[in-house]
Amino acid sequence: MENKTKEFKHLEKWQKTLANCIRCGYCYEHCPMFKYTGWESDAPRAKIITAFGLLSGEVEPSESVSQKMFSCFYCKRCEAACSSGVALTDIFTDAKKDLVEMDLKGPGTTSTTKLTCARCLICLKACPHEARSYDGKNIVVDPVKCQACGICIEVCPAGAATIQNSFGTDRNMLMDRASNFFSTHEAAKAIIFACNWSYYPDLQASVLPDAETRDKNYEILVNMCGGRLEPQLLMAPFLYNAWGVMAAVCPEDKCDHKGNVRAKKTIESLKNTFKSIDIDPERVRLVEIKAGDKAKFKAEIDTFMDNLNKMGPIR
Ligand code: SF4
Ligand code: SF4
Ligand code: SF4
Repeated sequence: MENKTKEFKHLEKWQKTLANCIRCGYCYEHCPMFKYTGWESDAPRAKIITAFGLLSGEVEPSESVSQKMFSCFYCKRCEAACSSGVALTDIFTDAKKDLVEMDLKGPGTTSTTKLTCARCLICLKACPHEARSYDGKNIVVDPVKCQACGICIEVCPAGAATIQNSFGTDRNMLMDRASNFFSTHEAAKAIIFACNWSYYPDLQASVLPDAETRDKNYEILVNMCGGRLEPQLLMAPFLYNAWGVMAAVCPEDKCDHKGNVRAKKTIESLKNTFKSIDIDPERVRLVEIKAGDKAKFKAEIDTFMDNLNKMGPIR
C-alpha cells in the first residue's frame, strides 16, 4: 500500500483493519442507504474500499468522495453483519475527521439549519451527540459528531433543522405512506413504526411492492430512530381512522441516540391524553425489540392486533 498517510492522520490507524475486509458484501445488504438508493457506491463496503483507496492514494479526496463518506445513519447494521469484525463506523468517523481537515464536509446526512431558525436552542439540548452549538449568530453543526439521528429535526419548532437527504425517513414521507396505506387497504387497522435499529430484517419486505396485499390490516413503517417518533407522526394514523399505533424501539441500554427513552416518554404522554378523552390507552403501544429479533417483533404485532380486534374501531 503506497504511503500517503500523512494526509490521513486519523484514518491511518485503520490501515491493517481496512485490509481485513474480505469484500464479502454481507454488510451492504443490511444498509438502509443501499436499500434506499440501490447504488452499491452508497453501501458500507464501498465506503471501506474508498477509505482504503484514500490511504493508498488510489482515490483522490474530493467533494463526491466526501458526500459518500458522510452519508451514513450510524445504524451500525453493517457492523453487526460484518464477517470480519471491521469497526466500520469508527473508520467512517476517522475518514470524516480527515476530510473535514481538508475542508471537505460532506454534507451527506449531516443535519443542517435553514434560515428560518429562531435560535431557540432547543435542538442543542436535544442532540444526543453534542453535535450542535451556537456561535452567537447561528447554529453550527459539527459534521463529524452528527450521526444523522434526526432528533433535532423532530424537535425544531421552526422546521429549520433538516437533513439534505432523509433516505425515506422524513416525517412527511412516513405520514404520506400511512395515509396511502389507509386509502388503499380496506382492512387497514394499524401502523407499526419500527426503528431501523431494533427491527431491520423486514425493512425490505416493508418497502417492496410485492409484499403488499389489499387485505393487510397493518403496515410497518421503518423510521431511523425511536427518537424521531414525535406525537404528530404517532397521531397521524388516527386521522385516517386507525384502530391503533405500535412503535418498536431498541431495549433501554441499546440506543446510541437515547431515542428509545424519548419514544417512551412520548408514548406515555399519548396514553395519558387518550385516557383523558376516554380512549383505551392500549391503542398506542411501545415495545422493545433487540436488533434483528424478528420472532419477538412478529409476536408483539400479533398480540397488538389481537387486542385491537377485541377493542374494535374508535367510536
Ligand atoms: S452504519 Fe448503517 S447507514 Fe451507515 S453504512 Fe452502516 S449500515 Fe449503512
Ligand atoms: S440531533 Fe442527531 S441529526 Fe441532529 S445534529 Fe444531533 S446527531 Fe445530528
Ligand atoms: S430547534 Fe430549530 S429554531 Fe431552535 S435553534 Fe435549533 S434549528 Fe433553530
